[in-house]
Amino acid sequence: MRIVVGHLYPDYLNIYADRGNMAVLVRRAALRGHDLYVRSIDLRDPVDPHAYDLLYVGGGQDREQALVAPDLAARGDVLTKAVAEGVALLAVSGGYQLLGRGYRGRDGSWMPGAGLFPHETVAGERRMIGDVLLDCELEPGERHTVAGFENHAGRTLLDDGAMPLGRVVAGHGNDGSSGFEGCRVGTAIGTYLHGPLLPRNPWFADWLLTRALAHATGGEPTELEPLPDELERLAHAVSAQRARARGGR
Ligand code: GLN
Repeated sequence: MRIVVGHLYPDYLNIYADRGNMAVLVRRAALRGHDLYVRSIDLRDPVDPHAYDLLYVGGGQDREQALVAPDLAARGDVLTKAVAEGVALLAVSGGYQLLGRGYRGRDGSWMPGAGLFPHETVAGERRMIGDVLLDCELEPGERHTVAGFENHAGRTLLDDGAMPLGRVVAGHGNDGSSGFEGCRVGTAIGTYLHGPLLPRNPWFADWLLTRALAHATGGEPTELEPLPDELERLAHAVSAQRARARGGR
């Protein structure tokens, strides 16, 4: 199958090697015999929501976020519609914040968001930095952990009833106090976790890939052939151990 990924603002939102998440998807698709193409979507590029099976936004500093925020906000309806039609989406940190209703940065200025995720973000005094471990159940009865690294001033408050990506086992998460991390709307996931995230959480990379593949085929998500993932499991274990060593929240 041919899977097409739209990578929003790769020149602006790419800290902690967030771009590495794309390399993982390309490779894991290829190992299952699929071709995954990554196309950049830059400021003012028109987006045909039907042209993509997965959309991706990385993290960034407040300064870069301010440069892309109006462009992203203007795409709110298109992105929301794409996700409603089953396009998978992953947004990391700065990108996650800007896919909510908006973000008040450290200098007090309001950056409008795309309104895809039901949340708002306000920067606090202290940055929340360090390794994170989450407990996730994206599919009923299938529990997994996600390990990553966070560094954000923004505190993200989910609306009542919004679904998080997971519960914080160790680390700060969305706001340092709710115990929630990230947000999920159907096939869209937002999270503060860098790392990059996907190399050390192969099950999660495959969850996204499965959804993207289902969109590409027009069918239901079907299980992907398992991969050995020895190094990936080791990377996850090291990362999870570092998070646990910080001693909870
Ligand atoms: N600039 C945002 C914050 O500090 C996002 C940071 C990031 O992408 N890691 O909250």
